[in-house]
Amino acid sequence: MIQLKNIEKVYRTDTVETQALNSISLRVAKGEFLSIMGPSGCGKSTLLNIMGLLDAPSKGDILIDNQQTLSLNDRKLANFRNNKIGFIFQSYHLINDLQVVDNVELPLLYRNSSAKERRELATAALEKVGLSNRIHHFPTQLSGGQKQRVAIARAIVGRPEIILADEPTGNLDSAMGNEIMNILLELNRVDGTTIVMVTHDPNMAQRTHRLLRLFDGSQVQ
Ligand code: ADP
Ligand code: ADP
Repeated sequence: MIQLKNIEKVYRTDTVETQALNSISLRVAKGEFLSIMGPSGCGKSTLLNIMGLLDAPSKGDILIDNQQTLSLNDRKLANFRNNKIGFIFQSYHLINDLQVVDNVELPLLYRNSSAKERRELATAALEKVGLSNRIHHFPTQLSGGQKQRVAIARAIVGRPEIILADEPTGNLDSAMGNEIMNILLELNRVDGTTIVMVTHDPNMAQRTHRLLRLFDGSQVQ
């Protein structure tokens, strides 16, 4: 499903050069739930961004469903990403002056769905995360756990095969974090969604299928 081959990432500015990833090779199978752990600055977010086709590696190959992604032009890459991948971030990234349901509909604006279809899909996604009673609230009127559930609804509204989550429970207390983790586990188990999650929490990592450890840009065996 996701194949990374010898991924290198170097960030270059006029004065400094940072080797963020060093020869990462990895396969994530369809339906797998992988977690990634490692100290701050070891390259976890960089790896997730490269896997999500948000950022290009300096070297190496990324195949998703056997499709070579680095040869796609920008428009094709954006379409490919929008159809296949949903993103969840630690700080939710919701738009505060849009209602919950409009936030969830955002990824569908890139598709040809009608307003009615968009509303139906968003309502179904919000139901799935248990937020049917908050669809007309604004993000500022929600608790942290509720905001993250909105973000999950937004990530799944287009029915992506892959979810990439960057510390999805990082800003939440353990009860709310567990609630979010339960939703992710269910998406994986019931819908077969492939999930890659960066976490600092060994208890969360332990509940996934496999753990990848990174240290200073390299895989630790
Ligand atoms: P993590 O997510 O594990 O905390 P990151 O992937 O954010 O690590 O960062 C890995 C390394 O790359 C760090 O040393 C960081 O300083 C560097 N880095 C990240 N983003 C940039 C950037 N845009 N420009 C320069 N260096 C960066
Ligand atoms: P917690 O502290 O348990 O994370 P909050 O106290 O922030 O949760 O929120 C409790 C409930 O009140 C939530 O269901 C949330 O939707 C609602 N709520 C919080 N702030 C507001 C607000 N400003 N306006 C309307 N409802 C709110």
